[in-house]
Order: sequence, then C-alpha cells, then structure tokens
Amino acid sequence: MTTTQPNRPDELTALRQRYSLERERRVRPDGALQYQQPVAEFGYYAADPYVDDVTERQPLHDVVDVAVVGGGFGGILAGARMRRQGMERVRIIDKGGDFGGTWYWNRYPGIHCDIESHVYLPLLDETGYVPEWKYSPGEEIRRHAMRIAQKYDLYPDALFSTAVTSLTWDEASETWIVATDRGDAFHATYVVTATGTMSEPKLPGIPGIETFQGHTFHTSRWDYAYTGGTPDGGMTGLTGKRVGIVGTGATGVQVVPMLAEDAQHVYVFQRTPSSVDVRANRRTGAQDAGADRDGWARERRENFLRIVSGEPADQDLVADGWTASAGLLEKLLPSFRRENTGPDFEAAYEAADAAMMNELRARVEQTVTDPDTAEKLKPWYRYACKRPTFSDSYYPAFNRDNVSLVDTADTHGIERITEHGVVVGDETYELDCLIFATGFSVGVSGIHSGKLPVHGRGGTQLLHTWAQQGPRTLHGFTSNGFPNLIQMGSLHNASSVNFTHILDEQAVHAAALVAAAEAEGALLEPSPGAEDAWQAVLADGAPDHEWFHAECTPGYYNREGLGRPNSASAYPHGAVAFHELLRQWRKESIAEVLQTKAVL
Ligand code: NAP
Repeated sequence: MTTTQPNRPDELTALRQRYSLERERRVRPDGALQYQQPVAEFGYYAADPYVDDVTERQPLHDVVDVAVVGGGFGGILAGARMRRQGMERVRIIDKGGDFGGTWYWNRYPGIHCDIESHVYLPLLDETGYVPEWKYSPGEEIRRHAMRIAQKYDLYPDALFSTAVTSLTWDEASETWIVATDRGDAFHATYVVTATGTMSEPKLPGIPGIETFQGHTFHTSRWDYAYTGGTPDGGMTGLTGKRVGIVGTGATGVQVVPMLAEDAQHVYVFQRTPSSVDVRANRRTGAQDAGADRDGWARERRENFLRIVSGEPADQDLVADGWTASAGLLEKLLPSFRRENTGPDFEAAYEAADAAMMNELRARVEQTVTDPDTAEKLKPWYRYACKRPTFSDSYYPAFNRDNVSLVDTADTHGIERITEHGVVVGDETYELDCLIFATGFSVGVSGIHSGKLPVHGRGGTQLLHTWAQQGPRTLHGFTSNGFPNLIQMGSLHNASSVNFTHILDEQAVHAAALVAAAEAEGALLEPSPGAEDAWQAVLADGAPDHEWFHAECTPGYYNREGLGRPNSASAYPHGAVAFHELLRQWRKESIAEVLQTKAVL
C-alpha cells in the first residue's frame, strides 16, 4: 500500500487527539502484570501437543564440542555454521520434540510467515530449496528447518523434549557443564544460547478463566485432536460449535478466517484492532524470485534488509508491504537508523504516517459492509505502534453471518469468564470453545530470564553481575567472566523485521569466533575494557524513542504503555552497518577476544 500526500495541520491535530483518547481507553495500571504464565493449574496451555510420549533415555555425561541451547532457526543456523567450520560434535537441545522453534510450536490454522519466504527462509542458496509461495505456510517453514538440520547432520546429537536447567563453567577442564531436566550433565567446550525472545505463551489474568468448562487452548499449542483438520483448514470438529477467540494480533488475524470456515459461530473478542494491509500471497516460481543463479537468496535478503533499514538501494526486489512502508518502520526497531531527527523530519514523518494509516482505515470501510463493525476494526494509532499485519481474508470474514466482532476496549478487555462463556459489558457469550491468541511473554526465556542460571568463573552468576552493572557484552555475543559462552539474540546487537537474517549473521559470527579460538588454542572472553568500549558505542547515538512509544497504544513494544526499555540495549546505527562492523572486526580485531587457556 502506498502513502498519499500529507494531511492538513487541523487533520493532524484531530488525529493526534483521537490517538491519545484511544490510548487512554486502553492503558491499564497493571501493565504486563495483567498477564499470567501457563504454569501450575494452567500448565496444560503450554504442554507439547505434538509429542504423545516422551521417549525415555539415559542421562548423558559425555563431552561435546558445542552445545546449542534452542533448536529454532537461531540454534539450527549456529549448528549449521559450526559444522561448516569443521566442528564435529554439535549438540542442540530444545524443549520441543523436533527442530523449528516458533514454527514447531505454532501450527495454528492459517499460519503463514508474513515476511517474504525468499528472504525469510535461511540457507536457500546452500540447500538449493526454492519456496513455493511468496509467503510460506508454517509447515513449509518447519520442514525447511528440518531440511537444514538434516543437511548439516544435526539430528544424531540433538536432545529434544529436554530443557537446559543450568550452565556452569568448570575451571578444571575449562568446559561448560550443561545440566538438563532429564538428568543430563555433560561437558561442552563452547555453549551457544539461542533461546528466542517470545517462546513462552501468555494468558490474560481474566477473573474466572480457570472456571471455563468448555474446551480451551492457546494458539501456539493448537489442539487438532479437538478441532480436527490441519493448518490448511477442514476443522470438522468445530461443526456446530460456538467458538470464541481472544486476541487480534498477527496470530488472531490469520486464525479468524479459518475458524469462520468451520465453526457454527465465531466471536472475535477484540481489545485493540491491528492494522491489516494487503497480503497478495501467490505461488512463485524460481524465475519470479530470481532463483536461477548462484547467490540469489543472499542478494535478495541483503536488498530487503537495506530497504527496511532505511539504507539506499538501487531496486526493491521484494516489493511488498514491508518495503513500501520502510520509511515508517523508523520507530519499530530499537536499532533503526538515527540520522533522521529534528522538527522537519518529525513533521514529514507524522504526515506520511497519517496518510498511511488513513489508507489502512479506508481499507476497512471498503471491505466490511456493516458500518458499526467497520468502525470498530479501524486502528487508531501510528503505524508500527503495534506490529503491522497483512491479510486479504481477515476483513471479509466479518461480512459472514457466523462471525461477530465483540469490542472490549471500553472494559479494558474481557471482564470475566464463567463456566459457560465470556462476559463483556451486560452481555454473556456462551461458548463451546475458547481460544487464546494472546501472544507471548517477552524476554522471559533463556539466560536473560533467570530460569536458566549461568555460573561463570568463580561461580559468578551472569544475571547477578548484570543486575549490578547492567548487561555487559562485546557486540552482544561474549561477556567477561563467562569464557566460551556465545549469546545470540537482540541484546547489544542489531534487529530487523526479518529476524532470521539477523540470526544467520550472528551464526556466522559465532562460528568465526569458535574457529579463531580453535586455531589459536585459546578461550573466547572479552576484557572488561572491550566491554566498556562496546557500551560506549551503544550509548553514543542511542535513539530517543521515548516520545513515540509514550504516545502509542499499549502492547509489548512499549511495555503495555509504560514506556520503552533502555534504547542503549541495541546497536544504534542499524543492521546493515552492524553487519559491516562485525565483518571488519573479524578481519582486523578478532584476536582481542582470545585469551590464553590456563589448562593446556
Ligand atoms: P500479540 O501480538 O501479543 O497479540 C495478543 C492479542 O491478545 C492482542 O490483540 C491483545 O490485545 C489481545 N489480548 C490480550 N489480553 C486480552 C484481554 N484481556 N482481552 C482481550 N484481548 C486481549 O500476539 P500474537 O498475535 O500471537 O503475535 C505475537 C508475535 O508473534 C507478533 O507480534 C509477531 O512478532 C509474531 N507473529 C508473526 C507472524 C508472522 O507471520 N511472521 C504471525 C503471527 C505472529 P491488545 O492489542 O489490546 O493488547
């Protein structure tokens, strides 16, 4: 969707007021505390529905070269890149029953990636695979994750249905002891953590949620045993059923049209509408994607990254909603380019933003026939305050007789759940099935959550050290006192809407670090001085996003309306510059992270 001319000043003032009003309707004093984790009596919401019986096995006490915590794309890419560097024993550990990470857990009907498959799926050049659709269905992505794992022989050493419970540096052997919930305690020369940021499903703390007597589950653990069908639909188990779905984020937008096909009636409980842009998914051939020559995938994803990072590019190879709105993604990422500031830029930005959002609101009116429903589906906030979504079937679903939109903004969400249904205002909606598309806790997985304690030199705990001084790393990957530990993720690193690209660059870097340490017979460990220098780079030019997020409607981007976390947590000049910086550093300065071993 293209933007139109800037709006008149009085229109912008009116919009600003409307946005502020809509935000005030939604901000809650309890912020993120309004949610609860799927533990104890809610534990079944997080149980693995794809593994019937976890195979018993003996605990492992052996030695591997590299242990990778997490079997999503981050972990798989780390494994693949380590293999290419010649590492023999690479053991990936994951809670799920197979590789895939988010694509292992999320198999809900309608699941697709909304980033173009030809740039989202990693290692296409290396595996020779060409995606069939511009936007891949989840199953194609999951199978690609497994394809990479097979190609790089990552299955034999993998541990599935296993959670790492602690990482402890063993001074005597200068290796890590990796302990798990299956009784394992094995040694690894290097540990890579690739635990993702949004892997724990969350539930709203709605009063009475535990009393519901109908069937219920979270979208990231879709219960096909109950609904029947597959991610492509055919949910015969929903015939004659009244189904409620809570949540209208990127997941809800994909699920609702599928439920509408099969359920007797669908009640969509909405608190904040998403912006829903054109999808235009289509089958693609190798030639459409330029996949008829070597290096095509690398070139395409670099081109996409340049455009969505606001860097100049000769052409737009992907040409979709993300690249069209690139100028407005400025505030989406903590590490976006900082050069654009000042009143002139802000004014032009606001006008372009208003034009874009006006078009998106017009799209609702053009599609949804009932004016009241259309009005409620309109998003009243700036572009990218919430994650933009894309669908050509979401709005039309509301023209069906068996779909009702229940807006809950006035009551700050659903008020109460009873044995038989959901209460909003004076109305009770009786339901057979209640599905939570309520998203994921942010930053509660892996070593940053405290659930996976990391004991470094002298038994020092990583998070204890960071609680006193703030996080300290070199480039986000390594930390003093924690030798041979390589962290993947967005802390002190770069980010992008195409996160698999970021992860692959991180995996290349991780493998280069290990190769350098192996070549020199050294440990990987930055000095405190190297960490200080990296902190200074992060702080210099860190963006001021506070005003933008302070005006945004609540969500996980702005800690439910309470404000953005420290923006010095990411590299401030964008992913393209960060990748170049890493390349140069690997050529010229990698020795600074190598330390002499005590044990030779
Ligand atoms: P989400 O964006 O966090 O959305 C959760 C939804 O639940 C929101 O609509 C929220 O409303 C609603 N909600 C929460 N508590 C509620 C309550 N008490 N009453 C009524 N509504 C309530 O979660 P998601 O849709 O699963 O998406 C999570 C992330 O996964 C996305 O942002 C994206 O990064 C990723 N994802 C990606 C794709 C893809 O194609 N690449 C697809 C799906 C998901 P409010 O907005 O008012 O809080």
